[in-house]
Amino acid sequence: MPLLAVNHHYFRSSSTGRGIYPTTPKALAGEVEQLRRRWRLGDQADIMQHCHGGGTVDPVCILTFDDGLKEQMRALALLDSLGVTAMYFVPTAPLLHRMVLDVHKLHMIRSRLSDMELAADLQQRFNFESYEFDDQLLAVQYRYDEPVSRKVKYFLNFVLDPSSRAKWTSLRFVEIFGSERAASEALYLSADDLKVLARGHSLGTHAHAHVPLAGLTVGQMQGEIEQSLDLLERLSGQRPLGISYPFGGKSAVSESVFAMAQSCGLKYGFTMERGVNFDGGGSPMSLNRIDVNDVHEWVDKVLVG
Ligand SMILES: [Zn+2]
Repeated sequence: MPLLAVNHHYFRSSSTGRGIYPTTPKALAGEVEQLRRRWRLGDQADIMQHCHGGGTVDPVCILTFDDGLKEQMRALALLDSLGVTAMYFVPTAPLLHRMVLDVHKLHMIRSRLSDMELAADLQQRFNFESYEFDDQLLAVQYRYDEPVSRKVKYFLNFVLDPSSRAKWTSLRFVEIFGSERAASEALYLSADDLKVLARGHSLGTHAHAHVPLAGLTVGQMQGEIEQSLDLLERLSGQRPLGISYPFGGKSAVSESVFAMAQSCGLKYGFTMERGVNFDGGGSPMSLNRIDVNDVHEWVDKVLVG
């Protein structure tokens, strides 16, 4: 059976207009209705059946939510009322350290400051304009963004060295939002939320610190995955079977990441490589997945490879 996975992040009643682009309740209900015309909306048992069972005949679609955000519990309630389950992939560093991940600090900063303001700040501190950007690559990687936004995101994510980035991000974050601990508690799922997800067999890992696993040594990779599994098991009472790799794009995953996830006992893994998963199409550790923004392009691809 073909398996389509659709990924989501933020779930809010309205968009901030920049930085954070949530799925709204109305959009989620519409998405469920649209998908249901062609796909059965399934659960983790269907993923396991697709990957390790004999397969079934009906096309199955799995909804996934990455990043362990508190607001996703409201999506869970809405989906419950529609008779749908989803998988929630949780990074564990925020739970352990009551910190806000860099990726979310950046989203929050960008929701308050325009990209022009950020570009000016980066120019002042890091001589941002002197970097030679590859506009074609940026257009592919950030297809929904304006040119200046693409440059700001790429510079922050891939050009600045990690320690300068962390310093800059933390400084700006605290200036705007104050206490990181309070922000973390408001932003992320609690241990009680994890128990609810575990009871519904809806809990997966998004590794520990939300870094691209492919860039790590084998030992660090193992630490990122095992630490997250141990913590999720301790907090929720259940050891996850699946992982969604942080970022999940080509540069964030590799064969050694897939092999490590498997050797840590995981049974399936989602990348952000776009596509439907067909029977016998690939490894259970490197499943394709699409972004919720692209559902309209994929909803009819039940029978086409
Ligand atoms: Zn993520």
